[in-house]
This record gives sequence, C-alpha cells and structure tokens, in this order.
Amino acid sequence: MKPDHHHPHPSRRSFLGQALAAPLSAALLDQAFIRAAKARAATQVASQPTLFTLTKVAPGAYSAIAKPKTIINCNAVIFENAKYLLIVDAHSKPSAAAALVAQVRREITPKPIRYIVNTHFHWDHSEGDPAYRRLAPGAEIITSDTTRELLSQFGAARARIEVEGAEASIPDLLHRLESAKTPEEKQRIRRSIAEIHAFAAEMHNYQPELPDLTFDSSLTLHDKEHELQLTFRGRGHTGGDVVVFCPQNKILATGDLLHGWFPFIGDGYPRDWPKTLATLKELPFATIVGGHGQAQQGDKRLTNFSNYIAELTEAVASQKSVGRSVTEIQSAVTAPSLHSLDDEYQSFLVSQLSDGQQTPAELIASNVKSNIADIFRRLDQS
Ligand SMILES: [Zn+2]
Repeated sequence: MKPDHHHPHPSRRSFLGQALAAPLSAALLDQAFIRAAKARAATQVASQPTLFTLTKVAPGAYSAIAKPKTIINCNAVIFENAKYLLIVDAHSKPSAAAALVAQVRREITPKPIRYIVNTHFHWDHSEGDPAYRRLAPGAEIITSDTTRELLSQFGAARARIEVEGAEASIPDLLHRLESAKTPEEKQRIRRSIAEIHAFAAEMHNYQPELPDLTFDSSLTLHDKEHELQLTFRGRGHTGGDVVVFCPQNKILATGDLLHGWFPFIGDGYPRDWPKTLATLKELPFATIVGGHGQAQQGDKRLTNFSNYIAELTEAVASQKSVGRSVTEIQSAVTAPSLHSLDDEYQSFLVSQLSDGQQTPAELIASNVKSNIADIFRRLDQS
C-alpha cells in the first residue's frame, strides 16, 4: 500500500505559516492554537529593535550594516540560497542576533536559516550564536578549525571581560553626565548607561555555543542560486579568520580581516596579515562587506588597509629592534610619518569611525597609538 501523505506545498504562504504549517488533518483546537502562536510570533517579530541597515548588494546577497551602539555589533551578510539562508557573523549578544533575524523576516524573506558562519572568535562576532540555537534549531554554525579552537579556549572568558569592561566604564559615564552641557548629551550618556546595564543583565548567565561544522582550509556550499566558498586564507586579524566568497555575484564577506575601521591587532599576526590580504586580491570580487563600517566597492580600501598594517609593522619592528619602548615608538611613529595614512584614507576612516567625541586628529592619533602597542606585543607571535 502506498501511503498518501499529501501535504500542501506552502508556496506563497507567510513564513509564520510555513513555520507552523500543520497537516490537513489538524483539529479545530489545533487551528486555534496555531492562530494564537502566529499572533505571538508576529508580535515578537514586529517588536524587535532595528539594529541594522539591510541593503541588497547583489541578487541573493544582503549587507546588514550595524547601527552605532555603545556595545558594538558587527555587520552581517545574508546570503539567500534557493531554499535557505546563510548568515555571516553573529554580533555581540543573543538579543542582537534575534533582532537581525526579526528584521530579515520583516524586510527580506521567510526562508529558514540553515547556516551561520563565525568569521572569527571575537565576542562581537560570535556571542549571538546561542540565539540561533533557539530561533533556528536545525541550523549549523560553521567556522574554521582554528576559530572553533579559539572559541572553546577564550569564548567564555572574553564574554566576561567585555561585560566587566563595559560596567567599569559606568563611573566615568556618570561623571560625564554631571558635566554634560546639553540635554542631547545627557540623553546620549543615559542611553549608553542603560545599554550597558541591559548588556550585563543579558550576559549574566551567558554560555557560549561552539560551531558544529569546521574546515581546515575551505568548504564550498553548492546551491541552485549560487555557490558560496568559505575559506581560511592565512593568519591575519586572528589565527583563524574565515571569508565567504560568492563567485556568481562577486560578493566577499571578510569579517574583521578587512573592514572600514582601523584594524584591531590585539589578537593579530601583523607580519602575516598583509600577505593574507594579498590572497584576497586573487578573488574576482566587486563588493566587500567587512565586519565593521560600510560596504566597499572594488579593492581600494583593501589596498589602504593592507599598506597601513604593513608600513606600521615595518616601522614598529625597526624601532623595536634597536631597543625602543612602546611609548618611545608611539612618539616617533605618528600619522603624518606614515605614507599609507594619506589625507584621503584618513578622511575615509574618520567618516566611518567618528562619533563626534574626538576631533579627527585625536581619533587618528589614538588609533595609531593603540595599533602600535598591539603590533609591539604581537610582532613575533608564532
Ligand atoms: Zn574582531
């Protein structure tokens, strides 16, 4: 006997309908339950904050550029395959990942999420992972072997450090609140303090989720719509950065290996980083969406970013080799002494980074100083 399990194909149904699709035989009681659940889910989707700006960057590819926040979120890239979504990176907390998913539902598609990629182990790219366990229980988290290892080693400790660091900034914020001159400034500081308290409360019982699926150097997902090539191309921002490239649509998602801010080198490999970036130039991309800042067209910022890391590393190495201290190097090597930080690149960085708190010159100088300190410490990492 041939069973006739005829389930109607929900071709044009809403995602809520799909998520809660029931066999035709569902009893009336079940229908009432489903209606109630749909209403609850719809309210949850509608009430989530909008933390990102979603933009279609190519057919089947969207950038989710994080709006500025005290507790920063990384950008995401959403690849829409024939039957499912792959989302690159998971932000600084589960509620931010949940907010992104709700926004994707509102603005893009009801398709199920099947893969999440962690580009690297940093807190602001991975701490939303637990939200996907709840929101997309069938989804798998993918990363490189090295990034999974780093997440298991440092994930929980880094989460605590970030919460403690944020809380430690509250006395200073309260102090600034007292001396704030305008109502707008007071309002902004109060919002920051509230955000930190909410972050600390949310992360109180945080448990990291480790990726399910890892690869050594590359993994390709084949799909009717387009191919997605996940690769580890060498050490750079961390020991295990993953990039995602879609050859058909020429989109490259780079995490923090390449983005529109100053590099963060605290866990980096400054001598290897430019070489790893050079391998990205072999990919025929048109658009790059990095982990922070706006999407980039072409390879201009890739060149800027790489030249800056290479020149600064060279300068720090030569000064360190003759016995100079970090402080001495920070006074000797400044923005005007770096060819790679030309006026045009500096104004680009200021346009991406400025929150109006520092003058452009202060912003550039403080970033160069902290990059020097990190390079000094990480120079001979092996
Ligand atoms: Zn990072």
